[in-house]
Amino acid sequence: MKIIESLHEMQQLSLQTRQSGRRIGFVPTMGALHDGHLSLLDIAKKHSEATVMSIFVNPTQFGPNEDFNKYPRDTDGDTAKARQKGCDVIFVPKADDIYQENYCTYVKVEKLTEGLCGASRPEHFQGVTTVVAKLFNIVLPHVAVFGQKDAQQLAVVKRMTRDLNFPIDIIAAPIVREADGLAMSSRNVYLSPEERKGAAVIFKALNKANEMVKKGVRDSAKICSAIRETISLSPFARIDYVSIVDADEMTELKDAGKSRALAAVAVYFGKTRLIDNILLGT
Ligand code: AMP
Repeated sequence: MKIIESLHEMQQLSLQTRQSGRRIGFVPTMGALHDGHLSLLDIAKKHSEATVMSIFVNPTQFGPNEDFNKYPRDTDGDTAKARQKGCDVIFVPKADDIYQENYCTYVKVEKLTEGLCGASRPEHFQGVTTVVAKLFNIVLPHVAVFGQKDAQQLAVVKRMTRDLNFPIDIIAAPIVREADGLAMSSRNVYLSPEERKGAAVIFKALNKANEMVKKGVRDSAKICSAIRETISLSPFARIDYVSIVDADEMTELKDAGKSRALAAVAVYFGKTRLIDNILLGT
């Protein structure tokens, strides 16, 4: 497995790989790898002959009071995990190379970024789409894999890829969960033992919502109340949002029985903000 820091070297290798007729599968991450990230690599391998995983804690997607500085970083551990999975290239660019002096070009997806996480993290998605567009231009992948865990990010990246005509297939990967249902996340390490235990209410609540829809309940307001009630069973939980939206447009749905209806939540446990979602009726 190659470890590449240089943007130029990465792009040259990708050009050579493409010229040799091999398809490149790309998995962008911020590192502190867990089994969720590694499942994305498995999917990328199925769709390509050469896999590239990037590890870059992207400063532009963090707000001024967010956790950029304390975000977990473990390049050695990450490299070992990726190597074991059979990844071909780990790309670890430096922030000063990605954002050179006097950097002033950004990619913004409108509408889809306004609600849900965009409401409480106003600059976040512009940071994500900017870095993903740059990484696409450096890694030159044929396919890129993104987790359903970050459902709004997935929809936004899909839309950017379509709108800017990137010749890249975006593949959605299912959410990988801990034994009690908590979605794996690099941020779960911030949780105290009590918060960690309590955080299992999130998946319980989403499952309950799904069961309601399967039984024929279609009123989103009713389903959102049930989700809020279940999450509130944990005294550590503070809800940021509970919403039922169209999974592609990220617009609110009154009718949760529609196809592509997604129940999405963001919940604080202490200072840690966790997100999760479920496609309803599945
Ligand atoms: P991150 O390092 O948190 O930026 O995540 C990198 C990629 O891994 C994104 O596409 C995430 O959606 C995906 N991901 C993170 N957690 C999970 C999970 N539990 N299951 C599946 N994919 C995940």
